[in-house]
Amino acid sequence: MNFHVLTLFPDMVKDGLYTSILKRAMDNGLISLNTVNIRDYTLDKHKKTDDYPFGGGAGLLMQADPVFRAYEAVTESIAARSTSRQTAEAENASTQDAEASAGRKVRTIYLSPQGRTFNQRMAEELSKEENLVFLCGHYEGIDERALEEIVTDTVSMGDFVLTGGELAAMMMIDAISRLIPGVLHNDFSAKDESFSGYLLEYPQYTRPEIWHGKRVPEALLSGDHKKIREWRQQKAEERTKERRPDLYAEYLELQSCKEMLMKNKLLYRDMIETIDRGVAKLLYKEEGTVLLYNRAGEACQLMARDAEAGKRALAALSEAPDAIISHESFMDEVLRDFVCKDGAAYEMCPPCVQMSYTRKELLPAPKSDIRLLTEDYAEIIDENYDLLSIDGIREHLREGRLFGIFEGEVLAGFAGEHSDGSMGMLFVFPKYRGKGYAMELERFLINETVKRGDTPYCQIFFDNEASLRLQEKLSLYAAKGNIRWFVKK
Ligand code: SAM
Repeated sequence: MNFHVLTLFPDMVKDGLYTSILKRAMDNGLISLNTVNIRDYTLDKHKKTDDYPFGGGAGLLMQADPVFRAYEAVTESIAARSTSRQTAEAENASTQDAEASAGRKVRTIYLSPQGRTFNQRMAEELSKEENLVFLCGHYEGIDERALEEIVTDTVSMGDFVLTGGELAAMMMIDAISRLIPGVLHNDFSAKDESFSGYLLEYPQYTRPEIWHGKRVPEALLSGDHKKIREWRQQKAEERTKERRPDLYAEYLELQSCKEMLMKNKLLYRDMIETIDRGVAKLLYKEEGTVLLYNRAGEACQLMARDAEAGKRALAALSEAPDAIISHESFMDEVLRDFVCKDGAAYEMCPPCVQMSYTRKELLPAPKSDIRLLTEDYAEIIDENYDLLSIDGIREHLREGRLFGIFEGEVLAGFAGEHSDGSMGMLFVFPKYRGKGYAMELERFLINETVKRGDTPYCQIFFDNEASLRLQEKLSLYAAKGNIRWFVKK
């Protein structure tokens, strides 16, 4: 991730961010920080960048031209880097980095008290970008004409006024960086925290066991993992109920959806996991009917009691998601004719069998050399896997969701976890088939998911006999009844 900050005070941003965890991430090349002094782009001989607002009023306003010229310099450098990378990579490379040259504006965030309030969801979404430009205002702000031309997102830190956007940009960069794989030593530390799911984090304690006469709660000293997990869950619920009743109410709603879904665990496994993994947004609920949005996979998931209830749920959608996953065949006709309020329609994919690994025990550990793949493998995966675009593959690689099986230094196959949480993308190169590598890759994925505390599941096209048999051998159970993906046309 490359952060670019347009500011009149670059030292403040550099000094503030180049310490501790973010310093290490910069030194390891996981993130980069490019601060651009807007003053370097003024044509005024006295280096002036501000002036009085037309119509009068207190204070000074930053002028449009230096801001615009600084922005142009940054986007040109992003485009130039992208062009040289594409040339080096392959003639048909289409990288997200090419967005500057290909017409898609690089996300450019103006920090302002007038923006959408920053939160963890926004940090998650922005962490998927490759370049982010931050524009820091100062004094009374920036000439509106520059903002109109360059800004894609206006973001606020809350309902208060700061003297400048620098601290706000630093807060965003800090929060986004922590979500980039490898930045935190243990990638699970971001997973348990407040706002990563639906609850605030439980209270924490460290040595000594007794301090000021206060003893660390007994459950945490017990060494019993189940007891510790239950204690933490209970405290997280109590704390959220007390401090953030709004979040607690949403959490209770999702728990009641989960109860409905649990009546057929195998069929609704994807929806249950969406809730359990903390990425569910509830869009509609009535008895026997639930419509969820999986934020990570950017897809909706529907359980419908009957076609009429399904229609009511779909009517709750004001914007069309990229995909809708339906779990009842009576919805096929409804969804085939469904046009969302924003005019988008859907195409029907072949039915899939949903399969789950319901045991808590790990499978025998794979003996092969299985490694997390880097972006260097994007091209080779793209050549062999059709269901994702190259940009999608790059995103999966950046997010650390694709693994390769190796013979020496040669890639023999790959598999991973889709952004919605299901396992898939399994492929073994023809030369390496018959050696049990597909099984090894799947065993690896299943074990990693179980260790994380989630339930492994996958969705297999109903006629893919070989894959269905492989899953059965790995002790995955098939749901009765199929699910179906409807993707935006
Ligand atoms: N005149 C502006 C208004 O009333 O909306 C406020 C200008 S403020 C004094 C100067 C700069 O600080 C802004 O341009 C913005 O970049 C930054 N800033 C102030 N408060 C902020 C907030 N709550 N969130 C993000 N940025 C903020």
